Amino acid sequence: MKCPQCKSEMAAITGRHRYKGSGLDHVFLTDVEVFECSCGERLMALPRVKDLNALLGRKLIMQPSLLGGEEIRFLRKNMRLKAKDFADKIGVQQSTVSRWEKGKQQPDIHVDFVIRALCAAHYGLGAKELIDVIWPEALKNAGKEKPKIELSKADWMEPVLEAPQKPASISENDIEIIAARVSQLVADRMKNDFHETRDDL
Ligand SMILES: [Zn+2]
Repeated sequence: MKCPQCKSEMAAITGRHRYKGSGLDHVFLTDVEVFECSCGERLMALPRVKDLNALLGRKLIMQPSLLGGEEIRFLRKNMRLKAKDFADKIGVQQSTVSRWEKGKQQPDIHVDFVIRALCAAHYGLGAKELIDVIWPEALKNAGKEKPKIELSKADWMEPVLEAPQKPASISENDIEIIAARVSQLVADRMKNDFHETRDDL
């Protein structure tokens, strides 16, 4: 491959590289080709980026840690939603979404869950594992460093991965059920914290 900057021949290196195009610092791709030029130009060869991003979106919502601003931005864009439409779906102001995405404000923990549920609906995933396992774990890990996410090319080149055709929607009824479950989880957690405190005395 010729360098688009200086037209020299570029060297291909296959290996593990940070996925800068995602805008996320903790995501790495393995077995991908990167072309490097002596002038400093660097290009990553990524086949089927749509499938890669859909897989990454699924991984992000199944992370046992609360969502950060850059992750929220990635998920919103992956669902092809404008900030206004995304805000409407989760019942907040557009300016709030902007503050989350810029890292100026952390979403309320209930909202973290609603965002995940919205994405789960988009990716065609059920919410059961999210409610029972992932989200309670994320709540426990609040404030801890996020584990790295590694995706191997074979992971997103699997033929079973179909890119979503159109954004799915989550009904108001779904959100009510989720909100009730989340409130209960938060209440349980507060009770546990209280017990832990008592045990320490
Ligand atoms: Zn060059």
